Order: sequence, then C-alpha cells, then structure tokens
Amino acid sequence: MSKFKIDPQIVSRDLNIASIEDLLLYQHPITAKYRALGGAGGWLGVAITSITKCPDNIGSYQHYVNGSIYYHPSTGAHEVHGLIRARWQSLGWERSFLGYPLTDETATPDGVGRYNHFQGGSIYWSPATGAWEVHGAIRGKYSNLGWERSFLGYLLTNETTTPDGVGRYNHFQHGSIYWSPGTGAFEVHGLIRSHWASIGWERSVLGYPISDELVVFGGDARISHFQRGSIYWSPTAGARVLRERVRVHVKILENPTSFTLNQQFAAMQEVYAMAGLRVDWATTENLSIPSLNDVDVGGCTMGSVTAEQITLFGQRNFVGANDVVVYYVRSTVPGYNGCAAHPAGRPGCVVVRSASRWTLGHEFGHVLGLSHVNDNNRLMTGNGTFNITNPPPDLTSTESSTMRASALSTVL
Ligand SMILES: [Zn+2]
Repeated sequence: MSKFKIDPQIVSRDLNIASIEDLLLYQHPITAKYRALGGAGGWLGVAITSITKCPDNIGSYQHYVNGSIYYHPSTGAHEVHGLIRARWQSLGWERSFLGYPLTDETATPDGVGRYNHFQGGSIYWSPATGAWEVHGAIRGKYSNLGWERSFLGYLLTNETTTPDGVGRYNHFQHGSIYWSPGTGAFEVHGLIRSHWASIGWERSVLGYPISDELVVFGGDARISHFQRGSIYWSPTAGARVLRERVRVHVKILENPTSFTLNQQFAAMQEVYAMAGLRVDWATTENLSIPSLNDVDVGGCTMGSVTAEQITLFGQRNFVGANDVVVYYVRSTVPGYNGCAAHPAGRPGCVVVRSASRWTLGHEFGHVLGLSHVNDNNRLMTGNGTFNITNPPPDLTSTESSTMRASALSTVL
C-alpha cells in the first residue's frame, strides 16, 4: 500500500473511491485522458468496456460509444475514433505494424482532413478520400514533400504490394510514391505518371523510379528517372520515353552571350527527346586558353582538323571515352555558329558564345552522325539554326535511328 501515492487533490474531492482499485483506475492514464476529453458527457460517450489489457500485456485500452483510448507506457494515452479507428482496426489494432497511437486524432494543417500518427506509421483521412495508412520509406517521402499540402494531396490507398511482387506503393490524389528494396521511395505524378502507367508501371521496360520528378535544365520540361531510362515531358514534346543517353561535358573559354547554357541544353534535350535520347550534362570547366578564344576551324570539315582544333579538343579532363565535349569560344575562324569537326577519338564540337538556342543540339547532331538537310523545320538544316522555323525543330525517324546507333549514345 505504501507504494501508492495519494493525490491530496483527489481525496479532497467528493469522489466515490472505495478502494485502492478505484483509486488506481481513477489515476489510470486512460481515465485521465477520458476526463480531459469530457468523460461520459464528452464526444466519446460512455464506456462500453472496462480498461482492458492489450494482448501484449503491456498496453491497455478502453472502448467508448464513439471511439477508443489506447495507452502504452512508451506512447502515453491517445484517442482514436471514426474512420481512422476503423482503418486501424482493419489492420489489426496495436498488433499491426502501426503499433500504438502517438497522437490523438488531429486536424491536418490544410484544415481539410484528419490524422493519427502511430509508432509505425500514420493514418490520414479526408472527406473526399477516406482513411488510409502510410508508413516506412513511403511515409518518409510523403513527409519530406509536405504531407497533404504537397502536390500529392491525400492518400487513396494503403501501402500495397506491386504486381511484380517486389516493391510497394501508395496512390495519392495527384500521384504515387513507389518503393523497392533496390531503389528506395520516389514520387511520380502528372503526365509522366500517366505515361509510365500506360506502358505498365514497374513491370514496364523502365522498372522503378529512381528520382522524383525533376526540372529539366531550368525550363518548362520535367523528367523522372527510372531504373532503365527516363520519362521526359514538355508542353510541346509531350511525354517521351528516353532509353539512351549522351553524356556532355562543357568547357568554357568564353561564356555564352545570347542564350544561357541552361537554355541551350533545354533546347537540345527537347529535340533529342524525339530520338529517345537523354542529354546528361556531366561537368563544366572553365578553360583559360586565350590563344584559342577565336579558334581556327579551317574548312570545318569532318575528318580534317587544324592544329588549333587538335589543341582545343585535347582538353578532356573528366571526360570518358564515349563522352562528348562542347567548347564555348568567342568565335571561329572563319566565322560560324559552331563546328562539329573533331579529331578522331575526341568527339565534341565548338559553339560560339553568340550561338543560337539550337546550335548545341545541331552540332552534336553532326557528332552523332547526322548531315545537313535543306529544311528549316529540321534541326539539321544547313541554312543556319538562327533561321529555324516552327520550333522545336524536327528530327526524322531515320535521323533518330542514326543518333541512337552512334557509339556515343549509351543504353540506360
Ligand atoms: Zn551543321
């Protein structure tokens, strides 16, 4: 008896405490939580069970007309009710992976929905979507993105095993988060998600996402990377599967003046998406070689290079064997927007600082095996890329095949 401390506030009240058992019940955290929520006159209503030990013999609970209070020494006492309680019950109460509640039911910051956090995850509810659980790495991603206030919105499913049996996903109002042991958890949404769905989700050739949706070179286009490729989307190109890549290194003798590097790369990627090619911008290096700022390119003929071109294209720090390099210079002599002639085994091109938005993609088109055409709707027009009409310029399917067949494009 001496181990029980009697709260003088309690004994001072007019309470019907007939025994130590009554006193213990009165002091039980579940009773205290029930009192704090208004007791029998509150929204929980009257008790329909006594305080009962959970099967683990550690926690305890009490059910009421309109909900339950669960208590565990390491989590405290929290109420759970309504459709969130029903979801938790359907999963197996505290014996499920969710464990005990860590919070009461709480209004979401957006003011629309409700949630309980549990030891092993969360259940989110909104009027439009119902109550669903999220846990583990998928919950971690949802949390990082901003929960229900993120572009994903509310849950539409529990965490579910993918049809391939390997991974897991939750669908949300405006996207999904996919997880697999080898890749981790990433979101996919919008038209990129629609396209991935249309080709078969994780069972498609692309496999699981390995990135969230990313902005492409600071422009309007978006890309999600997957295990065996990427899905690119832009307002004009739509959604495109990219299964091969070209790795580009930038060497700057003179900074671009007409279009930023991002604008030039975004333009190149938009056109190359038509060929299924991803443009990877690998590294950027500033070079100080004043004698080559106005580089002599002779006749700019494939297979025939000047001494200055040999010196310039010898600059291949960080550059792998099948990587390509663009050298930005003040001008070429004679004057061109760019020149794709390069020494054998040193694939790359020169682009002048005042070049057009499309010059970078055009010159690399030559490097990947394309020749000029007399059509200003096409990337490979021989009439100058400043004269391109109806942008983005086109690549024909033959040109696309040639580019993909190049040794400089690598299957993802
Ligand atoms: Zn050309």
